[in-house]
Amino acid sequence: MIIRLSHLFLRTLRDDPADAEVASHKLLVRAGYVRRIAPGVYSWLPLGLRVLRKVEQVVREEMDGIGAQEISLPALLPRDPYETSNRWTEYGDSLFRLQDRKGADYLLGPTHEELFTLTVKGEYSSYKDFPVTLYQVKEKYRDEERPRAGILRGREFVMKDSYSFDLDEAGLDASYQAHRGAYQRIFERLGVEYVIVSATSGAMGGSASEEFLAVSEAGEDTYVRCAETGYAANVEAVTTPAPPVLAWGDAPEARVMDTPGTETIESLVDWANGPGGVADEYGGAVTAGDTLKNILVKVREPGGEWQLLAVGVPGDREVDGKRLEASLEPAEVEMLGAADFASNPFLVRGYIGPRVLAEHGVRYLVDPRVVEGTRWITGADEDGRHVVGLVAGRDFTPDGTIEAAEVRDGDPSPDGGGQLRAARGIEIGHIFQLGRKYTDAFAVDVLGENGKPVRPTMGSYGVGISRLVAVLAEQHHDDKGLRWPAAASPADVHLVIANKDEQARAGAEDLAAQLDAVGVTLILDDRKASPGVKFKDAELLGVPVVVVVGRGWAEGTVELRDRMSGETRTIPVDQSLAEIR
Ligand code: ATP
Ligand code: MG
Ligand code: MG
Ligand code: MG
Repeated sequence: MIIRLSHLFLRTLRDDPADAEVASHKLLVRAGYVRRIAPGVYSWLPLGLRVLRKVEQVVREEMDGIGAQEISLPALLPRDPYETSNRWTEYGDSLFRLQDRKGADYLLGPTHEELFTLTVKGEYSSYKDFPVTLYQVKEKYRDEERPRAGILRGREFVMKDSYSFDLDEAGLDASYQAHRGAYQRIFERLGVEYVIVSATSGAMGGSASEEFLAVSEAGEDTYVRCAETGYAANVEAVTTPAPPVLAWGDAPEARVMDTPGTETIESLVDWANGPGGVADEYGGAVTAGDTLKNILVKVREPGGEWQLLAVGVPGDREVDGKRLEASLEPAEVEMLGAADFASNPFLVRGYIGPRVLAEHGVRYLVDPRVVEGTRWITGADEDGRHVVGLVAGRDFTPDGTIEAAEVRDGDPSPDGGGQLRAARGIEIGHIFQLGRKYTDAFAVDVLGENGKPVRPTMGSYGVGISRLVAVLAEQHHDDKGLRWPAAASPADVHLVIANKDEQARAGAEDLAAQLDAVGVTLILDDRKASPGVKFKDAELLGVPVVVVVGRGWAEGTVELRDRMSGETRTIPVDQSLAEIR
């Protein structure tokens, strides 16, 4: 196929779009691949559509390769199934809802677990029909709070979603592993640098779940990885076992803890807001209804008076226009020697969480007796100082593990092997073992081998197809423009006619025809423009191989430019066909 730039519906732009922050957004717009219609809603112009289709193609091949079968469900969906699964409510503001002329509720599908479950229920009724995996490549609709970075986070976007149905756990595991392998091949083929991390299951429900994150500073996800052990997780999913939790009373000072009275949130709040308390310092107070992280830490020298060391407030709380950070740097903790306690009895520096306490060898105690969702912390560090605190809200999960937001760069790996390193990533794929959440909701039972009904167990698996186009642009570009990996490039070769001579032009046309004949897709710059303009556009558009029919033509040579490496070679025309194809 020959795409002639003299005819192509394309306008490249000199300037970055005003609303663009990340490189992929700027370049995809400047190179004329996509155009914005509304926040998070984009049109695909010819070259963009070609990249999108190529990504789809790779995904389809790998899905077909594991035996998944493509179907297509509507994007316009009735409310009922989503009511049954409770996602009409759970999805909240992210759901695009609409009504038909009779007032019946509809939605635009954000993901299709419900409909795939009902589809399988509608067709299959016996164990003999299973396992089965279905997929589609489809526009999805989510009213994202912050549509961002062009097609990276759209409100309309293209997703490949697949759903596996198995009769038992072993089957589900096999389907999950098959998808995992297929995803690895997809991202490998497309030339994406990525990591696989364990993930929370979020709104999908279910248990085992991993994300594929493209390594990128432009990403909105943070993951941690341990080089020594291979442990990798989205920070949202990290559960670090808490340091040994002492039984109530084991800490020597725990029983003489000088609290304001009975151990309730209200009494502690009174205490914190009392003379010299939080209210004085912040001009604001801790309130009993505050369900966010509030930690009050009191210290005392052995035998001395209890003193309030720190009050942490939610990180997003502002006092006097000043954002209160919900963290205390290790260096700051180091600083808090005994002398500091004495000289600065009311150090309000930020939040001291279990992570910091653990890091500094402070043993602490969790008392489950206090109000739901609230925990006392008491204990002693090696210097014999004692810490008493209250953690309200999200610091602890019910099983005593420290929650996710605490995990940071440099933390010990939960599997004990080394240090965690944090980095940013863009979620490009997500695989879940859903279990029976949806087959339960829709009462999907099929006839079992022994005549008894069996309820299939499900997996659900997504790839962000349109997002991948942005990810590829994000990972492969330079200051001049895009640099597509071959598997995603809108063309195999970009042939520039940079010689006005009629013979050279005819020779270039001939070379293009020969390349076309052997199946090479090429962009042919046959425009009446200056070589400089053409070279700039070739760099911006980003096809990996650029061939220039230029001054050398008279001597029987063309120039071969590698857009990825920047390398330029002059080769004889009669060798070019063999080199390029
Ligand atoms: P994110 O954390 O980025 O919001 P998600 O976890 O909500 O993504 P899933 O429900 O797991 O997304 O959907 C499967 C895949 O669809 C994601 O891994 C991602 O690649 C893609 N995706 C999700 N939301 C968007 C979006 N708004 N725009 C483009 N692609 C998206
Ligand atoms: Mg999301
Ligand atoms: Mg996510
Ligand atoms: Mg996800």
